[in-house]
Amino acid sequence: MTDVKRAAVVGAGTMGNGIAHVLAQSGCAVQLVDVSDDLLACALATIRGNMDRQVEKQKMTPPEREAALGRITTSTDLAAVNGAELVVEAATETPEVKFQLFADIDRTASNGAILATNTSSISITEIGARTERPERVIGMHFMNPVPVMPLVEVIRGLQTADETVETVFELAKSLGKTPVEVNDYPGFVSNRLLMPMINEACFCVLEGVAEPEAIDAVMKLGMGHPMGPLTLADLIGLDVCLSIMEVLHAGLGEDKYRPCPLLRKMVGAGRLGRKTGRGFYDYG
Ligand code: NAD
Repeated sequence: MTDVKRAAVVGAGTMGNGIAHVLAQSGCAVQLVDVSDDLLACALATIRGNMDRQVEKQKMTPPEREAALGRITTSTDLAAVNGAELVVEAATETPEVKFQLFADIDRTASNGAILATNTSSISITEIGARTERPERVIGMHFMNPVPVMPLVEVIRGLQTADETVETVFELAKSLGKTPVEVNDYPGFVSNRLLMPMINEACFCVLEGVAEPEAIDAVMKLGMGHPMGPLTLADLIGLDVCLSIMEVLHAGLGEDKYRPCPLLRKMVGAGRLGRKTGRGFYDYG
């Protein structure tokens, strides 16, 4: 079993910066890769801001924050993943992007490196088949916000080796997370259950069943959810929600997974939730 000391994270958006954060905090050297220097600078600023909050809450000391930030290096060149024992891909949730990225990462990553994807719904088996090392390809599905949420859904593709699962389990535990193993079917467990609920909440808005605030209040106060489904959709990103519904619909083939037309319309308008300042709610 490999003890992961050097990791790379590809994609520095909402999830990638959180994954880099927890890896660096646990003592790993992290190479963070994205397509532009501006995006990387933005990710580093987000990580610093989130670590500042941990310092305020006395969950981290200022020297620990500086040491963790010092372990993160950035690059716009995918070749920088070479040398990492684990590469976690957290790029845009479209099959074409992931398939191409895994073929490229496989060519450039060190022999023996584990290639993990944070995909919410795309087949681990198909991603693995784009590489020469499907036995070392695995789903490592962190939850948002990564530094806060305890779960890592570990997804075993058809060809994933036991040793790969073991290494990722140990790593997740060393990050203070709880790994849960599931098999590779569309949406795995988390999004197979969560996304149809969010999609149905979108239909409730579309059909005028209730306002977003009312829908969220019902689920929070009545069902004990910490956050209503539409607030959660805005946090996840409506584009990500739509992509996941499309994967569920295509992969499982049933009408019950049909993406809500309102969700599609909002994504078309660029109202993606918190990250663009407006989704079901206005974030000013
Ligand atoms: P995001 O849009 O915030 O970030 C994606 C990043 O990937 C962007 O910065 C983009 O520039 C970068 N990227 C795209 N193509 C790239 C390439 N070829 N090389 C390097 N970087 C590239 O998306 P996100 O919400 O962080 O989602 C990332 C992944 O995590 C997706 O697979 C998503 O399904 C999954 N995920 C998201 C959430 C969530 O709540 N947002 C939760 C769990 C899993």
